[in-house]
Amino acid sequence: KANRKFHPEDTIVRAGEAVIGGGNFSVIAGPCSVESEEQVVGIAEAVKASGAAMLRGGAFKPRTSPYSFQGMGTPGLDLLLEAKKATGLPIVSEIMAPRYVELFEEKVDVVQIGARNMQNFDLLKEVGRMSKPILLKRGLSNSYEEWIMSAEYIMSEGNENVILCERGIRTFETYTRNTLDLSAIPAVKKMSHLPIIVDPSHAAGMAWMVEPLAMAAIAAGADGLIIEVHNDPPRAKCDGQQSLTPAQFDILMRKMGVLVDLM
Ligand code: PEP
Ligand code: MN
Repeated sequence: KANRKFHPEDTIVRAGEAVIGGGNFSVIAGPCSVESEEQVVGIAEAVKASGAAMLRGGAFKPRTSPYSFQGMGTPGLDLLLEAKKATGLPIVSEIMAPRYVELFEEKVDVVQIGARNMQNFDLLKEVGRMSKPILLKRGLSNSYEEWIMSAEYIMSEGNENVILCERGIRTFETYTRNTLDLSAIPAVKKMSHLPIIVDPSHAAGMAWMVEPLAMAAIAAGADGLIIEVHNDPPRAKCDGQQSLTPAQFDILMRKMGVLVDLM
């Protein structure tokens, strides 16, 4: 179902007024994790004013250490709903286990499968029965074929609204958090009709490198970007070092707009 051979036209995924794929370019922005109403509503208003199409925010966080902030859980989803009410932006949030499917079906517009769960086949089948679009991140060391097969797991259960997201892979290089694989964009577009977006924040791991990677992703033909934005990066509970301030995000959106118009 994900194969371009049997489905030549681009898939277009919609959430509220946001459109991803088929020649549209959309930006999803927001904090790594939801921390408070003030934080998430403030960021939502700022990124909306800069032209973002959707709001991201983690309520359930897949942290390397069990002692790191694990996210606010369900109250975090409710704060995202407050931000949606204030701005109209559809919300994207990560689901970590099949037991949350009903909760996410009720509260979230686009369900994110994180890199670490790309081959959690049971979870993929469960979200394949949801009515919401799925944002499927590429695993830390997975091939294009494996990634598209994970999309196939979701689609085989009936949910054909899948957005792929390249977020950098593990390589020998340690300077960056991950290595952004720009080849994924043209390769996946040849192999599949599904839209592909890029997450320069988790690829770089450093705020100053988000802009060049975002521009490169647009030049390579990405259907959109997902970018971490925080009102106070040094005090963020998660991924502050790679988060842009709303002011930096605004400048980036203007620069990207110029490039998108050229494409
Ligand atoms: C995230 O989007 O905050 C996240 C945890 O991303 P990834 O699964 O790509 O590491
Ligand atoms: Mn993050």
